[in-house]
Amino acid sequence: MTASTSYHMTPDEFRTFGYAVIDWIADYQARVATLPVLSQVQPGEIRAMLPDAAPSQGESFSDILADVDRIILPGVTHWQSPNFFAYFPANTSGPAILGELLSAGLGVQGMLWITSPACTELETHVMDWLVDMLALPQKFKSTAAGGGVIQDSASSAALCALLAARERARQFSINRTGEAGQLTAYATAQTHSSIEKAMMVAGMGRERLRLIDVDAAYAMRPDALAAQIAHDRGAGFTPAFVCASIGTTSSNAIDPLTAIGEICQREHIWLHVDAAMAGTAALCPEFRWIHAGLELADSYCFNPHKWMFTNFDCDAFFVADRKALIDTLSILPEYLRNEATKSGAVIDYRDWQISLGRRFRALKLWFVIRHYGVEGLQHHVREHVRLAQEFAGWVRASQTFEVAAPAPLNLVCFRHVGGDAVNQQIMDRLNTSGDLYLTHTRLDGRLTLRLVVGQTHTRAEHVRAAWERIQTEAAQVTNQWPFVEEIRQ
Ligand SMILES: *Cc1c(COP(=O)(O)O)cnc(C)c1O
Repeated sequence: MTASTSYHMTPDEFRTFGYAVIDWIADYQARVATLPVLSQVQPGEIRAMLPDAAPSQGESFSDILADVDRIILPGVTHWQSPNFFAYFPANTSGPAILGELLSAGLGVQGMLWITSPACTELETHVMDWLVDMLALPQKFKSTAAGGGVIQDSASSAALCALLAARERARQFSINRTGEAGQLTAYATAQTHSSIEKAMMVAGMGRERLRLIDVDAAYAMRPDALAAQIAHDRGAGFTPAFVCASIGTTSSNAIDPLTAIGEICQREHIWLHVDAAMAGTAALCPEFRWIHAGLELADSYCFNPHKWMFTNFDCDAFFVADRKALIDTLSILPEYLRNEATKSGAVIDYRDWQISLGRRFRALKLWFVIRHYGVEGLQHHVREHVRLAQEFAGWVRASQTFEVAAPAPLNLVCFRHVGGDAVNQQIMDRLNTSGDLYLTHTRLDGRLTLRLVVGQTHTRAEHVRAAWERIQTEAAQVTNQWPFVEEIRQ
């Protein structure tokens, strides 16, 4: 090897292989509907196909790409299949993928404004756009006392909100002393598990998370919240944080924000609102009722990486008082000092999140918003809700299936009337068939199937085919003559 030897990919090679990868992705998009949605491999199967040791000499890019087809693809569960109805979506789109690619191409590390001003300013600007696009309270804008920041996940957003709540409740002393004291937090058993995890990570203790009773629609009961807060105060605790969910993961339950927010205001408790998937619906004026009362919240988040055609990771996190967040997370070692930061005229997003480093995620969001326009996004969200509602109508009209929870948007919880074992078998048969993928939850102790319409390319024919498959499998499981109930329009 001489001093001039280079193992790097040249710009020309990059161009050639780059085109090949883009072709690969475009072909994948065209055929993903034909692939088994849930990966059918056994544990260890993928690793067994990989060599024991890393190659000592570089390999050709075409060999690498061939192994993507041979080794990787069988072990992929196809979240981008239009027949993916499981969990919550992680949908993506052409402009998002290209924005992500450009972000990697620029390779920017946007921890401070000075480390790439466009990375910060585009993010601030696009987050302000989102406030208007979803008709969120104006206080969440950077031009008011608040502001938005892109987090990797709703889990991280919740942790940041909880930390700020923790500090605010103790005059910003816990970061210094490490003494969290008797702080309590509140959510429901339907609230996402990330809140319990945040309590653990924040050193507040998972036992200090009080699970508030829900009503028949699985939404938080404000009277039960008020009673628990009063009880805790009487016992010497300091209530510090409430998480309300707009669209729980289990059933899309919507907590009553106005009543909860009034309690939080009266009691000086931080209210965080987690709208991870459902928040996207507020792009459409007719669904904005889900956010009624949001003006009483201290923080809010939703995930464009779930239902807004922006590939993971991209969580939009807003606070009403950015000073509380920054005072909680700011730290300034000598090697990061610079004039722009000192002037106070710029945002340094490393003070708004847990990690120091950050990617240029605003690019893909900006690409998505500009490509679709607000009207394009509204169109597709509306269509997803319409298809889910149509599915719910078929379930309601069925003799053998029932809707198990209110289905306000794009998630339908439903079950066969034959009980848990029948539902489990139906789900297992559907998922091992590879034709579609759906997952379950438990509501009132009963196994319940969930169908979420949110993948970018899910259209009427996919939902209709899913319903027909569900009925066919149910008929097989219950040993009836295979039949398909007439779909009533
Ligand atoms: C999916 C989900 C989360 C977690 O989202 P991440 O971005 O993966 O952390 C949190 N809350 C709710 C309501 C969710 O649906």
